[in-house]
Amino acid sequence: MNISFLDLRQEYIKIKKEVNKSILDLMQRGDFILGKDEKIFEEEFAQYCNTKYALGVNSGTDALFLSLLACNIGRGDEIIVPCFTYIASAFAISYTGAKPVFVDIDEQTYNIDTKKIERLITKNTKAIIPVHLFGQSAKMREIISLAKKYNLKIIEDAAQAHGAEYYGKKVGSLADTGCFSFYPTKNLGGCGDGGMVTTNNKNIYKKILRLRDYGRRDRYHHVVKGYNSRLDTIQAVILRIKLKNLDKWNQLRRKNAEIYNNFLRDLDVVLPKEENNVKHVYHAYSIRLKNRDKIVQKLCSRGISTSIYYPIPLHLQPAYKELNYKKGSFPIAEKVSRDMLNLPIYPYLEKAKIEFIAKVLKEIL
Ligand SMILES: *Cc1c(COP(=O)(O)O)cnc(C)c1O
Repeated sequence: MNISFLDLRQEYIKIKKEVNKSILDLMQRGDFILGKDEKIFEEEFAQYCNTKYALGVNSGTDALFLSLLACNIGRGDEIIVPCFTYIASAFAISYTGAKPVFVDIDEQTYNIDTKKIERLITKNTKAIIPVHLFGQSAKMREIISLAKKYNLKIIEDAAQAHGAEYYGKKVGSLADTGCFSFYPTKNLGGCGDGGMVTTNNKNIYKKILRLRDYGRRDRYHHVVKGYNSRLDTIQAVILRIKLKNLDKWNQLRRKNAEIYNNFLRDLDVVLPKEENNVKHVYHAYSIRLKNRDKIVQKLCSRGISTSIYYPIPLHLQPAYKELNYKKGSFPIAEKVSRDMLNLPIYPYLEKAKIEFIAKVLKEIL
């Protein structure tokens, strides 16, 4: 059996007719930039997240970057962010001129360790970026109470967590802004790059509305040095259709995680831990095991593709050598980066394939 890590075609097949028709309609209309479907998708996404506003931008990275700018963050400011995430969580900070201040993660959930944040807060700290890693919400209550105490902004990196919940509320609605990516492999993925900012703050909304579209008030009147960062209408057309399926697809991911859990329970591996009071949407299904790299090879030789995220924590990336972190700075993230393995978990992954992966793993171990 050959099992790929991802299979985006399966989702397309389910919605093919609707997608093809909607794209043809768009070609007839031709409103490719900030067109009708883009506006409707913003309304639908805001409603889905239960926020007042949603703004389409050209990537998840820009959703973070423009959120930071809208919170007046720039040179001289420090922003707290976990060191175990995709690099974009930190790059967005660097683009503003501010400095990322890394924090280690919790060994159970792989999210930011909220107990280690307070000691890193200085007079320059302006915001915290919790990442809802792999589809599970970070401990927002603890983060919100720290933000209140020190007057900090909170920008949620929800790029991997469309539809995830925390105490019954959707991620993206819990802080100053929520930042989503529609990169094709995400739980809600387009056919190219795309992103969204959600917020309840009218002032932030108005600022990002300008920043994403050349800082203009009207066609040729530019009030700030803005950017070209808009969500293409063609992506919105596709994403509107996919959004209608998101809950179903997240449910299938959760079911697949449960099937894995049942098959792998007796093996010598650490399974994902789902916290109480959250709804995990399993962007990734991560296990941890000894001799990971050898096992990856053996799985591969049996036709099973896996993926390692993230092999190098952010504080050890060459791009951040000027921050002078050392090996040993964040022991949990470093340990996890050595022994974590991500198994295929897309919605239409068949049960027989999960069973096969579990069987092969059992033989190897
Ligand atoms: C994918 C991702 C991003 C960046 O999103 P893009 O749309 O690729 O720019 C940011 N943060 C996290 C945690 C991500 O997984």
